[in-house]
Amino acid sequence: MPPMTWVYDFAEGNKDQKDLLGGKGANLAEMTNLGLPVPPGFTISTETCRAYLALQESGEGGQPDGLADEVTEHLAALEEAMGKKLGDADDPLLVSVRSGAKFSMPGMMETVLNVGLNDTSVGGLAARSDSDRFAQDSYRRLLQMFGGTVLHVDSELFSDALDEAKRAKGTESDLDLDADDLRGVVATFKQIIKDQTGRDFPQDPREQMDLAIHAVFDSWNTDRARLYRRQERIPEDLGTAVNVQAMVFGNFGMDSGSGVAFTRDPASGNQGVYGDYLQNAQGEDVVAGIRNTVSLADMSDIDRTSYDDLMDIMNRLERHYRDMCDIEFTVERGKLWMLQTRVGKRTPEAAFRIAVHMVDEGLIEMDEAVLRVTGDQLAQLMFPRFDETSERTLLAKGMNASPGAAVGKAVFDSDTAVEWTARGEDVILVRKETNPDDLRGMVAARGILTSRGGKTSHAAVVARGMGRTCVCGAESLDVDTRARQFRVRDGETISEGDVISIDGTTGEVFAGAVPVADSVVVRHFEGEKLDDDLAHAVARIMAHADGARRLRVRTNADTPDDAARARRFGAQGIGLCRTEHMFLGERRELVEKLIVAEDDEGVEAALAELLPLQRQDFTEIFEAMDGLPVTIRLLDPPLHEFLPDLTELSVEVALAEERGEVDEHAVTLLTHVRRLHEQNPMLGLRGVRLGIQIPGLFRMQGRAIAEAAADRMAVHGAPRPEIMVPLVASVRELQIVRAELEQQVAEVEEERGIKLDIAIGTMIELPRAAFLANRIAKSADFFSFGTNDLTQMAWGFSRDDVEASFFSRYFEHGIFDVSPFESLDQLGVGGMVEMGTKKGRKTKADLKIGVCGEHGGDPRSVHFFDEIGLNYVSCSPFRVPVARLEAGRSVLQRR
Ligand code: PEP
Ligand code: MG
Repeated sequence: MPPMTWVYDFAEGNKDQKDLLGGKGANLAEMTNLGLPVPPGFTISTETCRAYLALQESGEGGQPDGLADEVTEHLAALEEAMGKKLGDADDPLLVSVRSGAKFSMPGMMETVLNVGLNDTSVGGLAARSDSDRFAQDSYRRLLQMFGGTVLHVDSELFSDALDEAKRAKGTESDLDLDADDLRGVVATFKQIIKDQTGRDFPQDPREQMDLAIHAVFDSWNTDRARLYRRQERIPEDLGTAVNVQAMVFGNFGMDSGSGVAFTRDPASGNQGVYGDYLQNAQGEDVVAGIRNTVSLADMSDIDRTSYDDLMDIMNRLERHYRDMCDIEFTVERGKLWMLQTRVGKRTPEAAFRIAVHMVDEGLIEMDEAVLRVTGDQLAQLMFPRFDETSERTLLAKGMNASPGAAVGKAVFDSDTAVEWTARGEDVILVRKETNPDDLRGMVAARGILTSRGGKTSHAAVVARGMGRTCVCGAESLDVDTRARQFRVRDGETISEGDVISIDGTTGEVFAGAVPVADSVVVRHFEGEKLDDDLAHAVARIMAHADGARRLRVRTNADTPDDAARARRFGAQGIGLCRTEHMFLGERRELVEKLIVAEDDEGVEAALAELLPLQRQDFTEIFEAMDGLPVTIRLLDPPLHEFLPDLTELSVEVALAEERGEVDEHAVTLLTHVRRLHEQNPMLGLRGVRLGIQIPGLFRMQGRAIAEAAADRMAVHGAPRPEIMVPLVASVRELQIVRAELEQQVAEVEEERGIKLDIAIGTMIELPRAAFLANRIAKSADFFSFGTNDLTQMAWGFSRDDVEASFFSRYFEHGIFDVSPFESLDQLGVGGMVEMGTKKGRKTKADLKIGVCGEHGGDPRSVHFFDEIGLNYVSCSPFRVPVARLEAGRSVLQRR
């Protein structure tokens, strides 16, 4: 093996070598090779960092073999290029030592400037620069940064000492300190270092440089850097590069300065440069906000030549990178130097607008424009947002379960929510947790807040489905629904009628009304004709993504309104119509009748009452989705969800008995509630098991679907129903239900004298079903993976509990970096989906397969489903545009 190369001259690299040189190093190399004015220097690779950290971890310590020699060699070349020696007494070369990882981690790692200054070279710098003050100021900056970063002295000791010097001088500005004042500060700083570390500040320039390099490597592993990586999902094992570069000085006087700039506005995406400049300052001062910066336009008045050079370079950079760039620069005595560039971070709005503008400017093709935006960005643009500039009082933070910004009066039960909404008030429904019976309240409310439950809890799933803002699992809130109030940790109480604001994008809960703004993107999807640049940009990107994608996108919708909206958002049918919500409200009584029925006649009577109601539900949905497929899932949830709560009912009956009263109905009901009570309802009587246990239930649903389809055909509609059986584990279960359904369809065909085309398929949401998909496919016309339950069953994680309970620990330990309920666990659950798909298609080569779990609207998961060849994904209406975009991006990425 040839010896490892640890160090690279800027001229040796290019912008595509971020893995090796880090982002900063790769872009410095690129600019150097473009012939831009970059102070010369070299990059010590990320590989070196990894090798160095491995040595520290093993306890061996030291640095990788050969590194010292390579640094010596590159330093010699740098000295030669600059015509000066590092730390020379008469004319010192000074260098900066900066971190630079593959992915930008702003402010997380270390930087040391002015390396090479010591008690002697400070004199040389003073003579050469003709400024004693400048030299002393540079020395005190080195001591301060080196002391804090390399020697780990508490940095406040330095800033306090500097403040003290300013106080003594009677000023608040660093600029008022003269050379002698700064000489005093230097002496104090050196003493602080000696007191705190027990040793003198190292005078040897090379020792300074080596220690600074090691300190940058070490800073990869600080707590804050680790935390940042976890949040940003940056891998732990990348390491950082170190850039050693000749210093240029923005603090030489008023003909010098430092600035940051963007080639376009990173907030709005507007064309035209954007940035800040600060005279007589180093880069650190610009971001630290010590003094007020001026705009780039003002810079043109201060130093026209440098300004013109800068504009010229920014123009070149943008055309070269074909993207918006951000830049750090320094002007040293009227000469412009480039210290950094990279493709700049931007807001979602800017991302869409810049991508499309660049197509119009001929910089990129439409394919690339689509790849430059993400579904997550689109989702953010679709939610109303709180005005962040307004004053806000934070009450609590929960899980960001369904994005958006909602303001309303706190109410604690569905009846009040419905009643108050009917009289024109905005309400936020606050519950400990929600169950299907809260649906009316959830529909009525502007937002939902719960103190328990995770992102796939009932509240979260339903809220996302409706596009309703939801914060769940805000555990610091003590919700007392009886007293109609909740207490905040600090003791403050919010009672029914008090206004609160919840931010479903961040999980924050605020007191009072925070102002909100509507999304133009949603208005556009809703069909409003808008003269708005962002709406136009989104429309063009979506059209191109639609043209590219293979995967079809359907929606999960249970009401005609949701179906109609999803259709406007581009849904190509319904992939999951959950029927449980159709059995709530006043229909609950009918379900109770069904459950307590003593004989077949009672069952039949209850079903007969339910039938016309169900038929009406389906007719309306077929109408909203006319011409498009509608997958209706037969009843799925545990039965007890339709019955009163066991404890509450027991108390009610006991209290009545105490009063000497007998409520026959309550007593009977209690017997049945007890009978149906389950320790693990999610593993109990639900899904296809209901159909088998309660003969007639699925038959009634099948008939309602067939009759609704016949009714639609009678008025020349084009219904395309598909019946889906939930929670199937064995092909025999499906066969039994299928026979029942086929009989209903045949009967309706006969009665009406028509031919119906109704596919009958199954959900695959149990591991056993995935394993035996080849058998199940024999009786299924289609598959739809229920990845919510499949995740629950594969991991053995209760989908209602685990996210709020122990997931934070799992994130900390890196067991996963995102909840498997949110983004598909591709290895495990995804493996089952892939296997089930292959096995199913082994039996039926053209088996239509989709997915209808929450993952159908998650960008990463959509790419996975596209890659393994599913036919469609189905997701909540508000995720439909996101899935369309990502399905297009998935194809374009592969091209
Ligand atoms: C699923 O389990 O993924 C699914 C779509 O069904 P539900 O969420 O209604 O259980
Ligand atoms: Mg399910």
